[in-house]
Amino acid sequence: MAFPDLQIPADGVRIESAATGLVVPDRPIIPYILGDGIGTDVTPAMRTMVDAAVAKAYGGDKTIAWTEVFAGERAMDKRGEWLPQETLDAFTYFRVGIKGPLTTPVGGGIRSLNVAIRQRLDLYANVRPVYWIAGLPSPVRHPELMDIVLFREATEDVYAGIEWQAGSAEAARVIGFLRDELGVEGLDETGTGVGIKPISAMRTKRLMRKAIRYALERNRRSVTLVHKGNIMKFTEGAFRDWGYELAAEEYGNETLSEDALWRDFDGQMPDGRVLINDRIADNMLQQLLTRTSQYDVLALPNLNGDYLSDAAAAQVGGLGVAHGANIGDEVAVFEAVHGTAPKYAGQDKVNPMALTLSGVMMLEYLGWDEAATRLRRGIEATVAAGIVTYDLARQMDGAREVSCSAFAAAVAERV
Ligand code: NAP
Repeated sequence: MAFPDLQIPADGVRIESAATGLVVPDRPIIPYILGDGIGTDVTPAMRTMVDAAVAKAYGGDKTIAWTEVFAGERAMDKRGEWLPQETLDAFTYFRVGIKGPLTTPVGGGIRSLNVAIRQRLDLYANVRPVYWIAGLPSPVRHPELMDIVLFREATEDVYAGIEWQAGSAEAARVIGFLRDELGVEGLDETGTGVGIKPISAMRTKRLMRKAIRYALERNRRSVTLVHKGNIMKFTEGAFRDWGYELAAEEYGNETLSEDALWRDFDGQMPDGRVLINDRIADNMLQQLLTRTSQYDVLALPNLNGDYLSDAAAAQVGGLGVAHGANIGDEVAVFEAVHGTAPKYAGQDKVNPMALTLSGVMMLEYLGWDEAATRLRRGIEATVAAGIVTYDLARQMDGAREVSCSAFAAAVAERV
């Protein structure tokens, strides 16, 4: 596929895909979106830190051929549209990318550019690791106990966006159908909004497959299905059942359900297996606070994942460090959780740590573990030295507040 309008480094090479996984060349082409607002601050800072870690790890034998692709305000300026097809094609063709935050255009006819990218590339797993970096401010006494990875389904449940306003003709028709055809009683036709919450076997199973594979590859202990199946049996309860089903069908020798653990192994987990268990969502919110260290990988439907991921992130430092990735079967796009924070745009002030931790995930995804570890350690050493941006400095005793680019330079020195 040709991209005549993109500035692709001539010596860059496309990442290939094989039956065994990605085939990553020594100079992979990585498309990136600079992002709106503070994207112009954090994205170049992230690149500086990632490049420094890669250089230190491989002494020049591996490098990244960064290629800018356009979305948001820069795409509007350069291409006359918010989300050019060229950008989606580049992510699809080159397979791995990273993006800064994007403003949701007002009156642009697009609900959210971020949601549009995820949907159009079918990036169905929103993956969010949550762990503490020593020294970061936290509202809990033992933030170091948190080390989890959330796999949140990103295409159905409330993200399907199927709902009708109270009083609309559509809501009245749906309510009429429920009453007349299915015998549902007690819905007020004029004063009730209606939403549909689809959860399917196929989408649950592909999410669970990703979570289990991750747990196996990364030597994680357990995958916990988080659901509200006690109340919503055929959606949330089915999510739980399909999750167990997939584990038994495809990973029967590598996993063990909590039932089987007690029935066959007297509660003693055999080596080399991943435990599959489940928790009800409200209980899980408590457990994350009270039994933090017992949890590892979590698989969640969309709405539970929304609540749990932000609650977990709050325990280890919040928005300035919350990071993630949107991963499908063919394509992965890494991004920070925060938005464009327009009031700080272009001031070289905000924290680039979240996007850079997404960069750590991207390096791991490429199989460049040495660079990923160096980058994470560089960030840890910088925070340990008390060098942080304004958002953390205001909550830490004795910290030295530095700019976004100075933080990047300090990390680059420590990778
Ligand atoms: P936001 O951009 O995340 O900013 C909210 C506040 O969070 C900021 O004012 C700042 O707090 C803090 N913050 C965010 N990022 C930070 C960073 N890197 N370093 C330090 N502090 C940081 O949320 P928003 O104001 O609700 O949304 C603004 C725009 O971003 C909207 O157009 C929204 O649609 C978009 N958005 C995009 C994405 C995405 O691209 N993935 C995600 C969320 C929102 P203080 O003021 O307290 O310092």
